[in-house]
Order: sequence, then C-alpha cells, then structure tokens
Amino acid sequence: MTRYFPVSLDLEDRPCVVLGGGALAAEKAQGLLAAGARVKVVAGEPVAELRQAAAAGRLALVEREYEPGDLAGAWLAIDASGSDEINTASRREAAGCRVLLNVVDRAALCDWIAPAIVRRGPLQVAVSTSGESPFLASELRRRLERELGAEWEPFVRLVGEVRRRLRRESVPAAGQEAVYLGLLRSDVRRLLREGDAEGALLLAERIVRAPRPGRVWLVGAGPGEADLLTLAAREALATADLVLHDALVDPDVLALAGPRTRLVDVGKRAGGRRMPQERINAMLLEAAARGDEVVRLKGGDPFVFGRGGEELAALAEAGVEVRVVPGVSSATAAPTLAGIPLTLRGVASSVAFATARGRGGARSDLTALAAAADTLVVLMALDGLAGTAEALAEVVGPARPAAVVAAAGTSRQRVVRAELGMVAAACSEARLEPPATLIVGEVVAAASARGLTEATG
Ligand code: SAH
Repeated sequence: MTRYFPVSLDLEDRPCVVLGGGALAAEKAQGLLAAGARVKVVAGEPVAELRQAAAAGRLALVEREYEPGDLAGAWLAIDASGSDEINTASRREAAGCRVLLNVVDRAALCDWIAPAIVRRGPLQVAVSTSGESPFLASELRRRLERELGAEWEPFVRLVGEVRRRLRRESVPAAGQEAVYLGLLRSDVRRLLREGDAEGALLLAERIVRAPRPGRVWLVGAGPGEADLLTLAAREALATADLVLHDALVDPDVLALAGPRTRLVDVGKRAGGRRMPQERINAMLLEAAARGDEVVRLKGGDPFVFGRGGEELAALAEAGVEVRVVPGVSSATAAPTLAGIPLTLRGVASSVAFATARGRGGARSDLTALAAAADTLVVLMALDGLAGTAEALAEVVGPARPAAVVAAAGTSRQRVVRAELGMVAAACSEARLEPPATLIVGEVVAAASARGLTEATG
C-alpha cells in the first residue's frame, strides 16, 4: 500500500493540465479552476461544457489528442482520458519532467490521489483511505457533511477574522487560545445556524473582550458504551476543561474528552467509601470559579437516581451557570436493550420506576408501587434482591414474570429471566454483577419480548 503525504496545494495562477474531454475531465478541470489554477485541457473530442469554458476564456483548450510535451511546465496534471495508450504515455512524460500526475482510477500510475472532501468555505476536511476503499471515504465524507453544518463556513471565517485581529494586537498565545475556545463553546455557531449573523457577531465580540466565566454541564453518559451518548454530550466532552465522572462511565466515553481535558473519577470508592456529595459539589464550584468549563458526567440520565438534582441546587445557589444534557437512562434502556417493552397494548399501560435502596441505603417499600403499576422497574436491584423480590411477590404473586438486566448496552450485557419467586436465586446462580436493573411485569413474558431476544441471540 502506498504511504501518502496529505497536503493542501496553493494552485493560484499556476499552470495545470487535464487530459481528456469527457464529463469526468470537465469535472476535474472545474475543480482546478475553483482553486484558481491556470488550466489547459487537451482533448480530441471535448464536451460542450469544456468548449464553453474555453470560449469564455476560463481555460485553454487544445483540440487534439495528447502528445508528449503537453505536460511541460505544469505543476499538476490529471489524465482523465480513459485511454490506456494515453495513460501510459502521460505517465512516462510526467516521470521525465517531474510533473505530479493523477491518472483517474489507475492508482498504480498516480503520483497523487484526490481525497473525498467536505467543503465549508475555508474549512476543508479531506478524507482518504489511501485508495483502500473509495466507498468508505465517501461514506465518511457524507457523515462529516451531516456533522459539519453549513454554519461552519461563516464560523471559520469569523474565527479567522478574530485571529488576524488578535495577532495584530499582539495578544499572547494563551490569551488567543482562551478566546478561540470561548468561541467554540459558545452559542455563536447555533446563532449562525439559525441565520442570526448579527447576533453571532455581537456574542463573538463579547467573548473577544472578556472570555466567559466558568460553567458546569450536568451530562448524562447513557447506560454503557459510547454509541448511546447524545451528540450534545459528545460536544460538551470534547470542549471541557475538567470532567468529573462516575465510576461506571465507560472508558470509550471518557476517550471522547478533548486532548486538554482533565478527567477525575469521583465515583471511586476509597477504602469502601465513595467521595461524599459535598466534596463533589465543592469541586464543581471551585472549578467553575476558576473559569473552567466543567462537565459532571453521570451514568444514564443525570436526574434519574443520580443526585444530579442536588448538584443543580448547589450550583444554582452559588450563582454558577448550569446546563443540563439529558442522557439515555438505564431505567428505560436496560429493559429496551433486553427486548422488554415497558408498555404493551393490552398488557401494560403504566410503568413505575423505583430504587431498591431508599434514603441512607435503607430498603425502600415498593409494595404500594407494585400494586399500582403494570410494570415496575427497580434500579440498584442486586443488593438485597431476595428481600425485594419477596416483598413484591406478596403483592403481585411469585409467578409474576421478572427479569434482571446487567451491564445493559455494554459487551458484558446479561439478562436473567425468571418468575419473581425464583429471580433472586437465578441471579446468584448466574453470578450476575452490578449494575443491574430489575423489571417485573407481564411484559417480560410477552411474545414480542421473547421474539427480539431470540432474534438477536
Ligand atoms: N442515573 C442513572 C442511574 C443511577 S443509579 C441512569 O439514569 O441510568 C445506578 C443504577 O442504575 C444501577 O444500580 C442499575 O440499577 C442501573 N444501571 C446503570 N447502568 C446500568 C446498565 N448498564 N445496565 C443495567 N442497569 C444499569
């Protein structure tokens, strides 16, 4: 496999040659013209588009087949003739006169290959698989195209303007970087996307004059691996100065943090004890006061049994700006990933969510909920499962279908199904480990639930 060296060439006013007169040749000529090159096309039978461009004086057209010598003086050449004979001859000439040649669709004859490109004005993202898979290159280009909306064009121009200005004013590098980071994290791109160019400029101006004070994002990390993270969570992680995360957050999720981001595990149990909530709150406040962009990353959704509400209150009381990014909660994702619909027409029309551990770790009384809801979802289920199941069985009967889903959304996901009276024994026998969620209700035994599990193995 060839090892390519990627560059962005400045072809402004430089002679370049295109061989061939078909639609493909015309497209290549257009590409070179768009970069400001002086283009000569050599073609026996040029398409109308090439003739028109030549008539308009945009390119020089030599109406005959290629002859050795046509590449002389060119910086770059593209052979789009599609003729084996011309390909061989142009290859020979290019080698002799050191013109960098691309022979379309003949990688072995090429000095350079053209990447798939996402263009947003000055921003160009080039994707190359070194010729291994043009399909993957264009697929990735399409993905990036969706990710990098049209607002990136004015955004890059705006940041470029700011950069020139800061350099003129000899602002030190660290100060410049704080401004760029401030612009990146701000709502400037959102305003541009919404077409509010004036609002975007005003906000950018404010950021240039005074980089923003610190801010805290309470972000849900989803139940497991990175694919269940929201786009907003990815964005927050990529630009954070500091991430305070739970112990259960997957390493693949943490890997999405930016290169400058500091990661702190505040869920780790030191000597069997977790970091007290007050200490976490204090760390959040300190970092925000320093001007940091802080992400408090919590498993699932931050406001579902995650103490996110307490953190929000502490931050709000201290006057710190807080933004919340919801996450995919294991309360719904664990049953869904196990193929268990929480509601099902004719089977269950209500769901209750609870935790097996109440305030201060005491067992909660779930009996009233079990009687009221068709489906009951119990988080933190493994600890004391036998007692929980027994208490529930007294209300809904030991034959009620139940399932425990452990490590949902990860490669370690496991599902144990049993009647409520047997579920604790089945889980110990299977040596299920936390985190695990219990689901109790007729939905667990419903045909659709079994269908999906069997289909996915
Ligand atoms: N805020 C989290 C819940 C925190 S409480 C959320 O919205 O998901 C921790 C409990 O969540 C665990 O005891 C377990 O019941 C459940 N849980 C978290 N991750 C899980 C996973 N991957 N699979 C199954 N249950 C999970």
